[in-house]
Amino acid sequence: MATTTATTRDTPAGSGLYDCPICIGGEWRASAGRRETLLNPATAKPITAVPYCTPEEVRAAVDAAQAAFEGWRQVPAVERAQLFFRYRELLMKHAEEIARILTLEHGKILDESRASLGRGIEAVEFATSVPSLLMGDTLGDISRGVDTVTLRQPIGVCVGIPPFNFPAMVPMWMYPMAIACGNTFVMKPSERVPRTLVRLIELLYEAGLPKGVCNVVHGAKEVVDALLEDPRVKAVSFVGSSPVARYIYETAGKRGKRVQAMGGAKNHLVVMPGCDLGAAVKAVMGAAYGCTGQRCLATSVVVAVGQAADPLIAELKKAAAQVAIGSGDDPKTGMGPVVNAPAKQRIERFIQEGEQEGARLVADGRKASSHDGTQGYYLGPTIFDHVRPEMRIAREEIFGPVLCVIRAKDLEEALGIVNRSEFGNATSIFTASGAEGREFAARAQAGMVGVNVGVPAPSAFFPFAGWKGSFYGDLHALGRDAVQFYTETKVITSRWPALTSKTLAQEGKEGPAPAREHKITF
Ligand code: NAD
Repeated sequence: MATTTATTRDTPAGSGLYDCPICIGGEWRASAGRRETLLNPATAKPITAVPYCTPEEVRAAVDAAQAAFEGWRQVPAVERAQLFFRYRELLMKHAEEIARILTLEHGKILDESRASLGRGIEAVEFATSVPSLLMGDTLGDISRGVDTVTLRQPIGVCVGIPPFNFPAMVPMWMYPMAIACGNTFVMKPSERVPRTLVRLIELLYEAGLPKGVCNVVHGAKEVVDALLEDPRVKAVSFVGSSPVARYIYETAGKRGKRVQAMGGAKNHLVVMPGCDLGAAVKAVMGAAYGCTGQRCLATSVVVAVGQAADPLIAELKKAAAQVAIGSGDDPKTGMGPVVNAPAKQRIERFIQEGEQEGARLVADGRKASSHDGTQGYYLGPTIFDHVRPEMRIAREEIFGPVLCVIRAKDLEEALGIVNRSEFGNATSIFTASGAEGREFAARAQAGMVGVNVGVPAPSAFFPFAGWKGSFYGDLHALGRDAVQFYTETKVITSRWPALTSKTLAQEGKEGPAPAREHKITF
């Protein structure tokens, strides 16, 4: 998905909109760049002026991060961890305020905003374990009188480029662990949802972060390219669509930077005959329509095996008709809007194409209207039955509330469908058979697998492990991968003259018994 301008327009000076600030060297200020206006997805009313930073501002952000690095890397890991304990408390205290900003600019319902912030806070909790996570290996006497230890050291200035769909959680996969490991950071939030990140970093400074350790710039491709070109940037964490992930991986890789680039997805959920149908329907509804389908772990294809198909589709159709669509801050709303008008139009084009390709439209979200009368970018839950794997709606990421159902005769055929996808983020199976679950988990070509779990999102202690076209790089976000990504290993080998009776006698101390030489011969 490319960056968008179609729902935005120039912000007139003095319009009274929230003007999103940048943060350079710990100072918040207005950017000198041009502005675009962001609209509330639930009402299509202006809420934010987002700046597009100038090249000088991007350079100044990297200058500040570079200048802060020497001091920050020398702060003991235990003290860096203590900062994240304080940060966690501030995030908990302001959680409701942050969730409301998130819903305002993204559109997802408040419970989803709260939950995703909770997952972000989990990543901060993980970052508080950094003293143990950074511990290296030691082997005394690897040779006579020689000891070897490994240290994990920070790499320098790191950059974070997140997508629009998780304005708090995904950035929190990046900067907390990078900074806890002793690096300094430049964040460039999605130009569609910049406000949540601003609040998160304000609180990080309130927790006591030294000036310049985390900097914030705004913008899109030009700003990203300026960051990729800067030789002082040592590592890039990217999350977004696959074409851009690949571009970032190749461009930053060519310049010798370390890169982790997480891309798009097309996740399959296999429903086997004999499984708990009620649980499967609940899981599919959550996985397909949660966050209005704008999730890299969204289930966008159900593979219904044999007899499971007809009752499953009947139940999904019933459940889809009951979803209340509306503004995310209304407690009665079950599904919020999509992020903006171009996103809505793109999804509608996919629905039209699915009909033209011959899939059967069981529920048509284009007909939906909001229960609360708001005029936002709404689409209802959409279901296609009799989808064939070669259809575009079955292959490409739609990133909206559209579910494709493919019918398969057995587990073998279902696995073939899952594994032929160009993506490999996540997949799940609903089954009553341990043998089927085990077989599926072993053979599915995706990095995150669920067995009787709708969205197999790992907690922050495990890596977010996309495969194939869903990931470009070697080390994933979160888990121990993140610690390795944000550090370099140094191997130190030391030899010191042994203490002998003679040297100790010279110092007037009693020496040890003369050492006996043990020589191993082969
Ligand atoms: P996007 O690729 O349009 O944008 C992501 C980021 O890249 C933004 O910060 C944007 O400013 C920047 N960007 C956009 N185009 C660029 C370009 N040509 N050059 C350089 N930078 C560019 O993605 P999006 O629409 O914001 O987010 C949705 C996508 O993110 C979906 O494909 C979704 O699956 C994916 N996603 C993946 C994961 C994962 O872990 N695999 C998690 C969340 C979202």
